[in-house]
Amino acid sequence: MCFYHRRMTDEEMGRLMALLAVPSISAMPQHADDMKTAAAMVAEEIRLAGGMAEVIVTSGHPLVVGEVPPSNGDPDAPVVLIYGHYDVQPPGNPSLWSSPPFEPTARGDNLYCRGASDDKGNLFMLLVALQRMRAAGRLRVRARVLVDGEEESGGHSAADWVAQDPRPPRAAVIFDSPMVGPGRPAVCTGLRGLAYYRVRVRGAAADLHSGMHGGAALNAAHVLMTVLSAVTPVDGRVPSALSEGVLAPTPAEVESWRTLPNGAGLLTAAGGRPADSQAADEYHLRTTMLSAVDVHGIRTGNPDVVATTIPATAEATLSMRVPPGGSADHLATVLEGMLRAAAPAGCDLEIEGLGVAGASRIDPDDPVIRAAMAGIEAGTGMPVTPVGIGGSIPVVAAMAARGTSVVLSGFALPDDGYHSPDEHLRVSHLGLGVKAAEGILDALADLR
Ligand SMILES: [Zn+2]
Repeated sequence: MCFYHRRMTDEEMGRLMALLAVPSISAMPQHADDMKTAAAMVAEEIRLAGGMAEVIVTSGHPLVVGEVPPSNGDPDAPVVLIYGHYDVQPPGNPSLWSSPPFEPTARGDNLYCRGASDDKGNLFMLLVALQRMRAAGRLRVRARVLVDGEEESGGHSAADWVAQDPRPPRAAVIFDSPMVGPGRPAVCTGLRGLAYYRVRVRGAAADLHSGMHGGAALNAAHVLMTVLSAVTPVDGRVPSALSEGVLAPTPAEVESWRTLPNGAGLLTAAGGRPADSQAADEYHLRTTMLSAVDVHGIRTGNPDVVATTIPATAEATLSMRVPPGGSADHLATVLEGMLRAAAPAGCDLEIEGLGVAGASRIDPDDPVIRAAMAGIEAGTGMPVTPVGIGGSIPVVAAMAARGTSVVLSGFALPDDGYHSPDEHLRVSHLGLGVKAAEGILDALADLR
């Protein structure tokens, strides 16, 4: 059976296009009014589903919170929390876009716009499913809706709301992760956590002459290299202390990697190169189930001039991804200790923590996850692949901490340009995602 013809209606598409056209860039203060506009539009979508919604003012951008009761008003209907985000990444260099980033443009089967896939398009699938099910009198869950305006800029208003929610639900549904490929929906079985740092080194009061002092004076660039080398991976493995508690992959997970696109192809498609001879073969293991440390930026001296100076200062940003089982808070402390232990005597080393997010293990045998996978299959006619994800979504860890089982899926493709120029979404996947969302909500309604 082919479900691809089940598109959104023209009216639904029109409302999505209007939401996409709002440049709700949470990281850029000049878009604060756009954030309010987009939040109000999302609240209106919840009301269109027959629910109540309010826009909550936070210390950052507004949070949209709503509730859609079941069609029959049953006070004992299962409660499902639906989460998404209306904020988007900055568009980057507009000249790299084939059409303006905030003018939703259909070319072929693709709809191009910043936020088309991440996450307005995916969020819209869930909202339209609620609207259609309520309109048809067949919504059998009480849907609580939480829509974040700070997901792309490291805000914590949604995670705080989840942490303080007086009635944490058994199940949550999020559409914000990609399919394996066309015809292959995925459900996430784990997310890595993240600890982020800025490291500053001072080795002298001022830059020194290397002819006079070279070999004797502390060189801040060298200190930084030594400090970073203490934690960066060799052959894809960080020092074992940074893997404490990390879960080994299950046989089912190892088996599922065989059915996923291979690492060599994924690296090549991204324009990347393997870190070492085993990296491509171990791609899925390394990117989902192993700790990883990456240096993101380094600044020291002035490479633009040929100068015989010994740099007095150096700094770097780096982060560690922590796979399921590992405690991001604990391993962050271990990593900081390793950086300090590696610093030579006499240097000033300043380590600034820029945030920690916990890892999440999502058990594919959890009844909520099993029901949701069956619901997606029933709604789309497509088999669902359980996959681990190497990235971090802090709100998922917050939900898991409250005992909520999180169904994390989505209907964008891996090459739809999340965070990149020409971000897009297949128009036919909008209808597909609505069918999947309806299948999940039906399956969760039957779960007792
Ligand atoms: Zn997202």
